[in-house]
Amino acid sequence: MQLKKRNNMKLMACTILMVIFGSLFKSCNKNDDNNSANVPDNAKVIVIGAGASGLHAGKILNDNNIDFTILEASNTVGGRLKKNSTFTDFPLDMGAEWIHGNQALTHQWATSQGIDIYQDQSDDYFWYNNQVYTEEEIPETFYPLLGYMMFDALGDTDQSLKNWAIANGYDESSYPMLEASVNGVGGSADNVSVPNAIAGEQNWSSGENDYKFKNQTYFDLIHNTLVPQIEENIILNAPVTKIDYTNDKIIVTAGGNTYEADRVIVTVPLKILQAEYIEFVPALSSNKQQAINAIGMEAGMKVYLKFNTNFFEDQNISGGSVGPYYYDAGHGKPSSVPILGLFVTGTNAQELSDMEESDAIAAILAELDLIYNGQATANYTGEYIMQDWAKEPFVGGAYSYATVGMGNAREVLAEPINNKVFFAGEATHQNGHNSTVQGALETGEREAINVMNSF
Ligand SMILES: Cc1cc2nc3c(=O)[nH]c(=O)nc-3n(C[C@H](O)[C@H](O)[C@H](O)COP(=O)(O)OP(=O)(O)OC[C@H]3O[C@@H](n4cnc5c(N)ncnc54)[C@H](O)[C@@H]3O)c2cc1C
Repeated sequence: MQLKKRNNMKLMACTILMVIFGSLFKSCNKNDDNNSANVPDNAKVIVIGAGASGLHAGKILNDNNIDFTILEASNTVGGRLKKNSTFTDFPLDMGAEWIHGNQALTHQWATSQGIDIYQDQSDDYFWYNNQVYTEEEIPETFYPLLGYMMFDALGDTDQSLKNWAIANGYDESSYPMLEASVNGVGGSADNVSVPNAIAGEQNWSSGENDYKFKNQTYFDLIHNTLVPQIEENIILNAPVTKIDYTNDKIIVTAGGNTYEADRVIVTVPLKILQAEYIEFVPALSSNKQQAINAIGMEAGMKVYLKFNTNFFEDQNISGGSVGPYYYDAGHGKPSSVPILGLFVTGTNAQELSDMEESDAIAAILAELDLIYNGQATANYTGEYIMQDWAKEPFVGGAYSYATVGMGNAREVLAEPINNKVFFAGEATHQNGHNSTVQGALETGEREAINVMNSF
């Protein structure tokens, strides 16, 4: 998720809620020493997926001396955390990039390990009606859309942002701004539910501001914190296709092999569950399958372009109809290479994903030329990298978001089945940290503890 955690009046109101909800949340996740007391010595747990949630679940099981294996479909760990160390003179995050909030678990991990992180203080600009505006200059009609911390100005009716805008007289020229305002939420303005998104945001308990890594990536933090201690328990290239929990022992099928377990924690992305890639025996209840389908997850992409001069220095531009969020990827990094990033989700991401790569780059450059008076094409080195998460076979998109009519779907998704099959992963987070790394970690911890308490 990429959202600026703004320091404003709304945030102050939320902070009061955070204090209340945050303390509740912490107490729910308290890892007291007795969690593993009733777990039999020969108990075996299988964790499906080696993203942030699966790795953290594994680490906690390991800390409690519980026998476990992580089955990961792809040939690497990290899931939606991925880095590129060759494109430029600093490592690039191809998935998650920002630590959202000074209270996030990952902020704590980074600071306690002495990892150099810094607050993102780049400047926000807006591209609207072929003109660049500063935050102070943007027409007042867009105030409710400037960062979804302010969405609660939009009312309680469970409707999409687009429907709200149409009902409130916004015309087509404002649609790119609408998409930009929900780009960080992960869905299209047609689909994101205003009050459901607000409800999630009001439960936010990770604190203020966004932070970036100076010399490392988000992948490095998660990998170095979690993987070394559990590396031997991870099996790569093991896509799980079946979980048979008919009998006492659960039989998990992955890549032609079968594995036996007493408990299973499923952490695969929502899209994998929606595609019914994994056969559950007995089948999931219709209530569970409906909940899975009710939560949103759309395309998501990162694109980095290399230029000869830094004509976009320290600037973020929201509101493009090709790219809803362009940013100076090197802002605050020890780098002399001008790299412009595009972070895009929803309809815009799907449109770019459907194009030939060369056409997508041409469309991005054409829009940047409009915004920056032709400087993009004039200074482009011809080098880019693109990470299209919709085309990652075991991810399938960006991250979960709140849809119209979703109700308590996240809660239903997270419910264990028969005290044997447990569900973690960012989409199962119910306290506002869905679609973040810290949220994924928190769900991994939650389900590792639930598994230990289930014996
Ligand atoms: C472009 C983008 C930008 C983002 N930016 C940020 C950000 O700045 N800050 C932030 O906090 N968050 C951000 N996020 C969100 C964050 O990356 C995710 O919320 C988090 O990494 C999800 O972790 P997870 O463990 O729930 O899922 P994943 O990381 O997706 O892990 C699930 C794992 O399950 C595996 N798997 C799938 N199917 C199977 C199967 N059948 N069998 C076995 N394994 C399987 C997958 O390969 C994957 O490794 C971003 C995400 C994207 C895509």
